[in-house]
Amino acid sequence: MDMSTPVEEIKGVGPKTAELLHNVNLRTVGDLLYCLPRVYENYQTSVTIEDLKPGNVVVRGKISDLHIVRTARRRLTITEGVIRDETGAIRTVWFNQPYRAKQFDPKREYFFTGKYELKHGRYTLTSPSATLVQDLEQDGEAARFQPIYSAKNAIKPQTFQKILANLRPEFAKIPDLLPFTTYAPDFIKSGARAEALYCSHFPESPEDAETGRRYLAYEELFELILAAKLNQQENQRLRAMSLPFDAGLIKEIVQSLPFRLTGAQRRSTWDILQGLEKKVPMNRLLQGDVGSGKTIVAALAAAQTAHNGCQVALLAPTAILATQHYEGLNQLFRGIESQNPQLKMPTMALLTGATRGKKRLKEEIAQGKIDFVIGTHALLTDDTNFKSLAFCIIDEQHRFGVGQRQKLLLKSPDGLAPHLLSMTATPIPRSLQLTIFGDLDVSILNELPPGRQPIVTKILNELQQKDELYPAMRELLGKGQQIYWICQVIEETGTNTATPVKKQAKKLAELFSQVKVGLLHGKMKPAEKDQIMEDFAQNKIQILVSTTVVEVGVNVPNANMIIIQDAENYGLAQLHQLRGRVGRGDQPASCYLLTDGEGRPSRRLREMEKSTDGFHLAEVDLKIRGPGEIYGAMQHGELNLQVANLSDTKLIAEASQHAAEFAKNPEAITAYPELSARIKKYQQLTTLN
Ligand code: ADP
Ligand code: MG
Repeated sequence: MDMSTPVEEIKGVGPKTAELLHNVNLRTVGDLLYCLPRVYENYQTSVTIEDLKPGNVVVRGKISDLHIVRTARRRLTITEGVIRDETGAIRTVWFNQPYRAKQFDPKREYFFTGKYELKHGRYTLTSPSATLVQDLEQDGEAARFQPIYSAKNAIKPQTFQKILANLRPEFAKIPDLLPFTTYAPDFIKSGARAEALYCSHFPESPEDAETGRRYLAYEELFELILAAKLNQQENQRLRAMSLPFDAGLIKEIVQSLPFRLTGAQRRSTWDILQGLEKKVPMNRLLQGDVGSGKTIVAALAAAQTAHNGCQVALLAPTAILATQHYEGLNQLFRGIESQNPQLKMPTMALLTGATRGKKRLKEEIAQGKIDFVIGTHALLTDDTNFKSLAFCIIDEQHRFGVGQRQKLLLKSPDGLAPHLLSMTATPIPRSLQLTIFGDLDVSILNELPPGRQPIVTKILNELQQKDELYPAMRELLGKGQQIYWICQVIEETGTNTATPVKKQAKKLAELFSQVKVGLLHGKMKPAEKDQIMEDFAQNKIQILVSTTVVEVGVNVPNANMIIIQDAENYGLAQLHQLRGRVGRGDQPASCYLLTDGEGRPSRRLREMEKSTDGFHLAEVDLKIRGPGEIYGAMQHGELNLQVANLSDTKLIAEASQHAAEFAKNPEAITAYPELSARIKKYQQLTTLN
């Protein structure tokens, strides 16, 4: 039996279990072994009820008085019960887990692990996990320190644990994976991998679990960094069209702008124009907080490309944004042309799902009659061909998957790779830059254009709307300014308790009958969406009630207030993006984060209140969520960092040095077939190419 042995061949795995495992992509012994515990529970730390203190706790006791309460307003199901031991009793609740009411035997003892906290004026153990004491006692005292696996679809953690127990004798045979070169740290030695996996699945103490975690985290980091380095080497071998820098042209454009470029914009533009001159494809990420002015930097690079007789494509995640880019840049370029008729600015076209006469437009693109094409996914279809695509710009790159980026890049002429500029307002923390995005060059716009007003952010309980929010809205509307109101869902659905956008639009239209309230969401027809957005931009609509379709890029400088309803339902990056819709003009702006007022606001919301610095928030986000869901492929759940903690800079530095040394001789990797296969997977996921 080795790492590639199919799960079917494991003792105790019948065809039914095998199918369940396949469904969640667990096909081999290796896949199973790398399915690591979510957390460890230390039942040795259980305390008696009379000694309980608020926080994360383990209680040993019996449960009774279980019953279900339904709340009408939020359509929640609450399961309540009472846990007792010889010293006292406490209340426990679960939200939307009605099966809990029937799960327990009132005569038996369980360990309950959860958070003991004040809820509605009463101390309560909320949403505890539960384990039968008897199950642990069978394995003796050691079992008091337990790995907890997450329930993957239909596979019960207990089933999973049984399969692993059957594999236990095989652990000693797990082969080593990483090269033991001179730069490897001491703990990377023969047998370390087998030991780490064993310690992770069958730990006897917290120290065991940590030994396992450290090794596996190192392995993960090493693989990621090596994958990025190999990608970079492969990129260096490709050829791109060299697009020489014409200083005169760039100067003319810069001088005709209605504003002065910030220092950061100048530096980034310079980096990019230099990159475009090279015969090796540029692979650069332009990071800049919302409103930092990324578009004009991209436009200057696009102008240089067209000036050299080549084509540029800009890919945007939504039709609204693509249209706005097209209109803004077309106006800019045509304006410059009318002042300097001798300067030839790029000819432009917009290609979205709603574009009419697509066939003809695509012919013109294929014939090279259009220099600069701005579009959405509609650009990626097989029948969109370019004559000389030399430069691709991807706006809000984290919105696109690897496959989509690939499609665009493959539209270059044979044998040549286009230069690539990815833009993002979701900053990538430095630790991620060193690992997952190690193959990228990075430019940062860390300076906002002058005159921007700070955005005041406030967490507000829904019950305070009438007294505090509506008056603030009236005052702002009185000054002729506009408001975004963001809802999470379009219509009522079974499980989500968020207020739907349609319902909220109706309510606001009644409350604010003196102004026009508009409704915008993703299910509307493209032409309809464009019209609403256009009306909002022209101040024909004063309150725009919208789903997150306005999240990225949209620019309406007269909108100076944004209200995000059910704010707890959003991630930090998304909240920051949404807030970036306001504060784009020269007026003060505000952002309200509405909550249901139950419990203390989350750390995410409190961080939003404290800071408007996207780089700071990205670091915080990484700490709160882990890297798992933050970027690109990872957002799509393909790349799942299990163990590495990206704030562990020491481990990153060690892995980075070790991987760099190993990558110097790319041939060496052929001696490590398992490593090589694992890295291939990462290479596809991490590259922005
Ligand atoms: P983002 O980085 O979020 O994509 P945009 O490129 O949309 O930002 O720019 C936001 C706004 O700032 C636009 O209205 C743009 O015209 C304006 N802008 C960009 N650079 C400057 C500058 N140097 N000075 C003043 N305004 C600027
Ligand atoms: Mg933008």
